[in-house]
Amino acid sequence: MRNIVRRKLTGYVGFANLPNQWHRKSVRKGFNFNVMVVGESGLGKSTLVNTLFNTSLYPPKERKPPSLDISPKTVAIQSISADIEENGVRLRLTVVDTPGFGDFVNNDVSWGPIVEHIDSRFDAYLEAETKVNRTNIVDNRIHACVYFIQPTGHSLKPLDVEVMRRLHTKVNLIPVIAKADTLTDDEILAFKQRILADIQHNGIQIFEGPRYELDDEETIAENNEIMSKVPFAVVGANAEVTTADGRKVRGRRYPWGVIEVDNEEHCDFVKLRQMLIRTHMEELKEHTNNVLYENYRSDKLLAMGVTQDPSVFKEINPAIKQEEERALHEQKLAKMEMEMKMVFQQKVAEKESKLRQSEEELYARHKEMKDQLDRQRNELEERKVRIETGRPFDDGTKGTKKKGFSLRS
Ligand code: GDP
Repeated sequence: MRNIVRRKLTGYVGFANLPNQWHRKSVRKGFNFNVMVVGESGLGKSTLVNTLFNTSLYPPKERKPPSLDISPKTVAIQSISADIEENGVRLRLTVVDTPGFGDFVNNDVSWGPIVEHIDSRFDAYLEAETKVNRTNIVDNRIHACVYFIQPTGHSLKPLDVEVMRRLHTKVNLIPVIAKADTLTDDEILAFKQRILADIQHNGIQIFEGPRYELDDEETIAENNEIMSKVPFAVVGANAEVTTADGRKVRGRRYPWGVIEVDNEEHCDFVKLRQMLIRTHMEELKEHTNNVLYENYRSDKLLAMGVTQDPSVFKEINPAIKQEEERALHEQKLAKMEMEMKMVFQQKVAEKESKLRQSEEELYARHKEMKDQLDRQRNELEERKVRIETGRPFDDGTKGTKKKGFSLRS
């Protein structure tokens, strides 16, 4: 067991400055946040995004009557990025919109392009991670998905259930009731309960805030308050209107008064913004990385059979790489040894054949000399016989026999 000794320092060491270092570095690098908005056309998605980030990220849409509408008949994915800055802190915000969602007679295919798009962003990240240089990976994964529910006051539509079930394992789902100004406070309360019951009944996992233990009471209370408003009943408005008491506010004017976007008594917009931007942005990104992406990554690699193929992990695991290099080195040594053996054997064979050759030559010369001697002896023998018998030689001279003279071979 590891013992952690708590000690009080007697002087200033300096590591208390760590958060400041981290803060300075993060501010210098800037932040990025990718949010997806899903919901049927006209539910106020673009308006809400513009209201959330207080910027006109989306220009006003030109709406045509259905008979003149020639927009594509599939769900198109549109991504808009903007660098926004507040008090010297830069945020690269990317909003992914899904125009066309829910517009078709056969809405079963509505979720297809959305799921594919989320997966393609995971894939791009996975690919970047497996490259040799992994230092500057841009995180384009979707960190939050704001799902717009039509303010029907009834319950979730089958399409909502279907889409949420497809998305909840891939993104942090944040359900919102669109155009909440069209419902009364009581209707909103009842609708929220029905939505939550539907979500639970269908086993849909929505974003639940920080998963770690919050130890400071103020943070716990803040988190509970935010989470108690899910699904957020939101109202979007980019224009400023003047209230009855003369205040200029962002809101929507009705004959009976003004609905203020930034007033917590009027809607949950402030709580949604607080969660998305002020308190839980890092948590959303962490959960995307540690849980959603991690699950996707391991499923994908397993499906590719990567566990059986160590080459993919070579970059990541130096031990495997080292082992492979050692085996390669040993292979090289064995090859060299074999080559040397072969050269040696060849040289020995050459020497042996040379020896054999000179032996044969010696033998041949010996035989030749012996033959020559034999020939000479025969000649002499012949001469002797002619001399003894007195037969003439081939050149015509006469042989003379001498008594008692003989030649023995
Ligand atoms: P999108 O198609 O989902 O992006 O919807 P838009 O943002 O383009 O909004 C469609 C229409 O709804 C526009 O006329 C907006 O002014 C209006 N709208 C947007 N937000 C709200 C809202 O919270 N309440 C009401 N009543 N109308 C809204």
